[in-house]
Amino acid sequence: MKKIIYIAGLGHSGSTILDMALGCHPEIVGLGEIYAVFNKKNQKALFEESTCSCGKKGVDCDFWKNLRKISSSDKTVEEKYRLLIDVFNEKYGNEMILLDSSKNSYPYLQFLNKEYDLRVIYLTRDYRSWVYSRFTRTRKPMLFFIFRWYFENKKLLYMLKKYGVKINYIGYEELAMYPELILKKICKFIDVDFSKDLLFPDNTKSHIINGNISRVDKDKRKGFFYDFRWMTSGRLALLSSLFAVFNRFNKKLVYSNISRTNKDDFHIFGNKKKDILSKKHNE
Ligand SMILES: [Zn+2]
Repeated sequence: MKKIIYIAGLGHSGSTILDMALGCHPEIVGLGEIYAVFNKKNQKALFEESTCSCGKKGVDCDFWKNLRKISSSDKTVEEKYRLLIDVFNEKYGNEMILLDSSKNSYPYLQFLNKEYDLRVIYLTRDYRSWVYSRFTRTRKPMLFFIFRWYFENKKLLYMLKKYGVKINYIGYEELAMYPELILKKICKFIDVDFSKDLLFPDNTKSHIINGNISRVDKDKRKGFFYDFRWMTSGRLALLSSLFAVFNRFNKKLVYSNISRTNKDDFHIFGNKKKDILSKKHNE
């Protein structure tokens, strides 16, 4: 059965860089937000104006140039998806894994889960970081974004659970701080061997024509970076102290891979390793 990876989560959570990193794997090709490409309203912008992560315009991109007719047709989303998979298989072979990072646009998820071997990576950015970045971009109240983060994630999670899909929770913070550790966990979830190639998203063979502009940002494509400006916001610190429920949900979604480990074994900072080294080199 054809394997499909779907990155779910809210926009601005780091899905573009994760799509590009996974697209460096020899068995995976990422296609960005497929659902947005299927939208008839986006055709001109995406195919004529947008630059793909491969560096070419949509009309010249090795993958998407073959999809314009299908995308702009009146077919249903499911029909379009089936045709896209045919084009994909013809180009890359049946064994190649397709990666879709449409995030919280999921009208075809149930169909994908029924007909394909679907693996969902639920990517979440710490709500304080997400809220601060949305706030600095739009100047709308932080409180508005705090609630939005919470309720949109709740809704998305509810739908995914209802569909009964396999979910792997990944925090963007975990990924940015310990990319190798987290990418290894993702590879295990997808059942592919880890490759160090994943640590260099710039070398991706993914074709992303819709998504965060970081897809064409030479500096951001070099690796995983973390924007920690939110840590300087007093207002955000005060607001986040008021929402214990949100903080619990945040911990569950964003830090599940590192908070589950024993304090002594915690990645490279655990006490066990320090004790062994101290015994050998301090005494
Ligand atoms: Zn391309």
